[in-house]
Amino acid sequence: QPIHAPDNLKSLLQEILQQAREITDGKVADYIPALAEVSPECCALTVATLDGKVTSVGDAHQPFSIQSISKIFGLMLAMERMGDALWQRVQMEPSGQPFNSIVQLEWERGIPRNPMINAGAILVSDVLVSHYSASKSAVRSMVRGLCNRDTVTADPRVHESEKNHGARNAALAYLMKSFGNIEADVEEVLDHYFWQCALSMSTEDLARSFAFLANRGKCPRSGQQITSHRDAQRINALLSTSGMYDQSGQFAFTVGLPAKSGVGGGIVAIVPDYGVIAAWSPPLNAYGNSARSMAMIRSLANQLGLSVY
Ligand code: GLU
Repeated sequence: QPIHAPDNLKSLLQEILQQAREITDGKVADYIPALAEVSPECCALTVATLDGKVTSVGDAHQPFSIQSISKIFGLMLAMERMGDALWQRVQMEPSGQPFNSIVQLEWERGIPRNPMINAGAILVSDVLVSHYSASKSAVRSMVRGLCNRDTVTADPRVHESEKNHGARNAALAYLMKSFGNIEADVEEVLDHYFWQCALSMSTEDLARSFAFLANRGKCPRSGQQITSHRDAQRINALLSTSGMYDQSGQFAFTVGLPAKSGVGGGIVAIVPDYGVIAAWSPPLNAYGNSARSMAMIRSLANQLGLSVY
């Protein structure tokens, strides 16, 4: 039986958003102009519960660049295509290194530490490019179905500028290729990776999309089994250990939910058997996590007692 949201959820979210707006720490990602231009004032919080209710405050309808949150979408398709063989090409261990670190990849002979860091997501992109004739369409139609919005698309400006500022990601891809762990053409793999980082979605879109992870793999809206229960558990485990960059331990300690963040300022947190919390505000802390999104999710999780531990 799904747990219902408290009756005063909207006013609770309102209060949390108000408090978060007072946080002025952090800096908007500026490695590409399309991200640097987003207003630091934007702030949104959405809770989607498994009974189908979606409660939002702030800029919850405004699409933003989901960046690393897209790593979950890629991973879902790669897990489905490759089954357990995937785990010979990417590990499941936290990296203890920044998301775009390259040193570990050399030590570990081109096998990325996990699918939530850049090297791992580029590896996953290789799997998709190699297994689908149109890998972007495969991701796009899955995402549209999950959030029930047909107009979800990647922002072409973000996609283009990611490519122009992608030297480090290219280095990761070519290093993996040198170890024989990238099968397809590297430029095609990178193009897919940058494209999925450029997907533009709102907190409402994200909260709807990931409800299946809180519901044992089944979409509560359509009733469709999106992944097996086992794969949903496994994705949540990876999010718990590696989803919040190098702050994953602190997030587990203070919040206690599987979560993924992106440098666009978005964070999604999964509350098993309850629902999804999605937050967005562009200014990032030193780890690359949105300062306000972190604070909002922490406050809500603590007030409602949502930690899984
Ligand atoms: N496009 C960014 C990169 O690959 C994504 C970073 C992120 O959101 O963690 O560097």
